Amino acid sequence: MIKFFNSMIFKGVVAHLLLFVILFMSSFDYNVAHFNSVLANYFFSLLFVLVFLIHQHRMIVNVSRQMNQIKNGYLTKDKLPKGTSEINELYGEILKLGEDIVRTQNNLENQRNQLDSILAYMIDGVIATDRRGKIIMANKSALHYLNTTEAELMQKNIVETLQISEQYNFYDLLEKEPEVVIETHDADNEAVSLHIKFALFRRESGFISGIIAVLHDMTEQDKSERERRLFVSNVSHELRTPLTSVKAYLEALEDGALDDKETAASFINVSLTETNRMIRMISDLLTLSRMDQDRIVLDKEIINLTAFLDHQLNRLDQILETDSSGLLTSDFTLVRNYSNRPIWVEIDTDKIAQVVDNIISNAFKYSPKGGVITISVETREKDVLISISDQGMGIPRADLVKIFDRFYRVDNASRNSKVGGTGLGLSIVHDIVKMHGGNIFANSEGEGKGTTFSFTLPYSSENTEEWDDFDDSF
Ligand code: ADP
Repeated sequence: MIKFFNSMIFKGVVAHLLLFVILFMSSFDYNVAHFNSVLANYFFSLLFVLVFLIHQHRMIVNVSRQMNQIKNGYLTKDKLPKGTSEINELYGEILKLGEDIVRTQNNLENQRNQLDSILAYMIDGVIATDRRGKIIMANKSALHYLNTTEAELMQKNIVETLQISEQYNFYDLLEKEPEVVIETHDADNEAVSLHIKFALFRRESGFISGIIAVLHDMTEQDKSERERRLFVSNVSHELRTPLTSVKAYLEALEDGALDDKETAASFINVSLTETNRMIRMISDLLTLSRMDQDRIVLDKEIINLTAFLDHQLNRLDQILETDSSGLLTSDFTLVRNYSNRPIWVEIDTDKIAQVVDNIISNAFKYSPKGGVITISVETREKDVLISISDQGMGIPRADLVKIFDRFYRVDNASRNSKVGGTGLGLSIVHDIVKMHGGNIFANSEGEGKGTTFSFTLPYSSENTEEWDDFDDSF
C-alpha cells in the first residue's frame, strides 16, 4: 500500500487534482453547466495524465528489471517502448554499463576457473590462510601430502597444521617468510620431505589478507642427493684402500724388498690382485653409469629358458671341474630342479647369463665349505621365477633389503676378507633384471642358513605353443 502512495502514478494524480482544485477555485462560478464542463475537462485531462504516467511507469519498471538481470550476470537487450528521451537515454547507458559488468563478471569467472584448474592439477601443494592464520583454501596436492581432507583442514591454524609451532608462530611467517622443511607421511603412507615457502598476499590497499604456503615434495631430490654423496664417498673409499696398499707394497719394494725374491714375488702378487680388483670395480662402475644413462640397449631374442640355463650350468660345471684357483673348491654340486619342458622368453642372453653367473659365483664365494646349489624354475601366470639357493653363510635379515644397493656388503670382515668383492655385482644384476621388466629379491633364514636369490622374467604361457618351432641351441 505504502508503495502505491509513493508511486509516480499516485503522486501524479494527486498533483493533478491539486492543480485542478487551485484553477477551479480561482475561477469559481455557481453555474451548473459550467461546473459540469469543468468536471468533464478534469476527467479528460486526468485520463491523459494517467496514460502518460502508466507509460512512464512501465518504462521505469523495464529499466529496473534490466538492472536486476545485470546483477544476476546476464543481459537481455529488451527494447523499451517509445517514450521520453531522458529515460531512453538512461536505459541506453544502463545497457552499456550492463555489458561492461557482464563482460567483467565473465572474465573474472574464467580467471577463477583457470586458477581452480591450475591449483587442482599442480604437483606442489598450496595452502592459503586468512590474516589470522586460519586455513581458508588448500589444493588436492596439499591434502594428499598432509594426509587430510578439506573438511578437516579448513579453519585450522597453519602453524599447528604444519607442526612448526616450535620454531615459528604465525607472525614470524608474516615477517620472515621463511623456508621450512618438514618430514611427514602422505596419504599413501609414504615418508615425504616437504620444502615449504611462504608468501604474503595483500589487497591493493596494501592491507595483508593472509599467507600462501607452497609445499614442494623434495623426497626424490633429497634421496638422490644423499645417494650421490654416499656414492662419491664410497667410490673414493673403495679405491683409496687398494691404492694405499699397492703404494705401501711398491714403497717396500723400493726400500729393498726387491732384493728378497720370495718377498718381492708375494708383494707383486698382492699388488696385482688389488689392481685387478680396482679394474673390476671401475668396469662395474662404468656398466652402472651406462645403465643409469639408459645407454645400454637390450639385444633381446626369443629363447628357450631351460635350454639356456642348461647351457650356462654345463659351462659352470666344466669350470668347477677344471678349477685350480682353490677358491672354487670343486665339491660344489649344481642341481637342476626343473623339467626340460621348453619355456619361451624374450631376453638379452648375454645380460641374463651375467645375472645367473653373478648369483652363482656369489653362492660359490659365500659358501665356505661348498655344498649344493639348486637352480629352480617355476612358470606363473605372467612371469617365470628363477631361484638359485645355496647352503652357505646366509644373509642377516636386516641386510636383505640393502643387498642390491651399490657398494653394499654384509658387514662381516671374515666373509669379505678372502673374496675381495666390490659390492657392485648385485646392483648390476638388479638393474639388468629391472631392464627386462622383472623383479629380484633375496631370502635367507639368517646367518649360516643359506641364501636364495629369485628373479622373474616376463612370460606368457600362450607364447609357449606359438614359439615352439624356434631354434633352442646356444
Ligand atoms: P661382492 O662383489 O661383494 O660379492 P655383490 O653385490 O655381488 O658384491 O654382493 C653384495 C654382498 O652380498 C656381498 O658382499 C655379500 O656380503 C652378500 N652376498 C651376496 N651373495 C651372497 C650369498 N649367496 N650368500 C651370502 N652372502 C651373499
